[in-house]
Amino acid sequence: MPHLYLHVPFCQRRCSYCDFSIAVRKRIPAREYVDAVLQELKLLGTTDPGRKPGETEAVGLDTLYLGGGTPSLLPPEAISVLLTSLLDVFRATSSRDAVEVTMEANPEDVKPEIAAAWRRAGVNRVSLGAQSFNDGVLKWMHRSHDSARIGDAVRSLRAAGFDNISLDLIFALPAELERDWVRDLDLACSLRPAHLSLYGLTVEERTPLARWISRGAAAMPDDERYAEEYLLAHMRLAACGYQFYEVSNACRDGFRSRHNSAYWSGRAYLGLGPAAHSFDGRMRRWNLAGWEAYRRAVAAGLPAVEAEEVLTDEQRELERLYLALRTDRGLSLAALYRPLPPSTAHWVEQGWAEIREQRLVCTPEGWLRLDALVHDLTSAGRAV
Ligand code: SF4
Repeated sequence: MPHLYLHVPFCQRRCSYCDFSIAVRKRIPAREYVDAVLQELKLLGTTDPGRKPGETEAVGLDTLYLGGGTPSLLPPEAISVLLTSLLDVFRATSSRDAVEVTMEANPEDVKPEIAAAWRRAGVNRVSLGAQSFNDGVLKWMHRSHDSARIGDAVRSLRAAGFDNISLDLIFALPAELERDWVRDLDLACSLRPAHLSLYGLTVEERTPLARWISRGAAAMPDDERYAEEYLLAHMRLAACGYQFYEVSNACRDGFRSRHNSAYWSGRAYLGLGPAAHSFDGRMRRWNLAGWEAYRRAVAAGLPAVEAEEVLTDEQRELERLYLALRTDRGLSLAALYRPLPPSTAHWVEQGWAEIREQRLVCTPEGWLRLDALVHDLTSAGRAV
């Protein structure tokens, strides 16, 4: 599989909106983590019937993504050992920079010497969790950085040789925070990142945010604000030279995320680490979510897999529709065995979708109504 994902579960604290599978640690067990991941890979090499012992199918890794959690909490030496081992195992020997190696990082972890060490270790793309340039908002989110750190981090990364830098921002925050979304977008653009990922705030169970809302200390995010800020982002970012190539992702020319694009194309990928998911085109499996449970399993030579599911044809079809319509390439009409349902004409008239070169493509207004469009396609003119 030419796409590899590593879940690094450690964080210094839990952000107010986050329900990811993380392990909050003051001391990061970096050596244990690296050993566990390499052991998991070894176990897969010896137990997966599709591969010869010690071998993976992946000749020519295309992308490697360190997500989390907070991968930037690992010391650079641990990242170097990990990447060297993985790139060797996957025989990515020709040119390391031919593999897109992304690492998620929090701004406070980026220092000039650390950024340089990441670059030497083989990382060539950094996704920075900026979220906002408003210090009050960052505090409310329980983020560990202030707004000044974001610019410092971008400058340190550039000085270390990174030109492929992505910033994450969160929008549709509760009104009482008085967050100025346009200001945040403009400040993000002024740093000229190659890529931006924008996520609307959602309320997940068992998060500090859900508790604040249940006791009336915070308002629910509202749909109108979500739509307004989403469309505003499209206008603002287009004016700065960014193109949305997926519902939540925009970039300058030539800087699409190859790793995430593989997900959206339904390609196979291998996930390592606690809570990591893998997909072979038909079967999805996911690892034990807890760090300790994961570590103990692989140390005992047991599979780290918690469960797996084989997607039915119907599930695969639904996924295919969703994934295709999330992107600016849209859905190929040639791949639909039945004509488009009549409601599609309404979508086009309303400006929610377009037919371009025999493909159905959502506009930004259409992306806001993606569930309804997929529902129309699957219930009225069933695609198989
Ligand atoms: S740093 Fe990221 S993964 Fe960790 S708690 Fe915050 S949002 Fe979640």
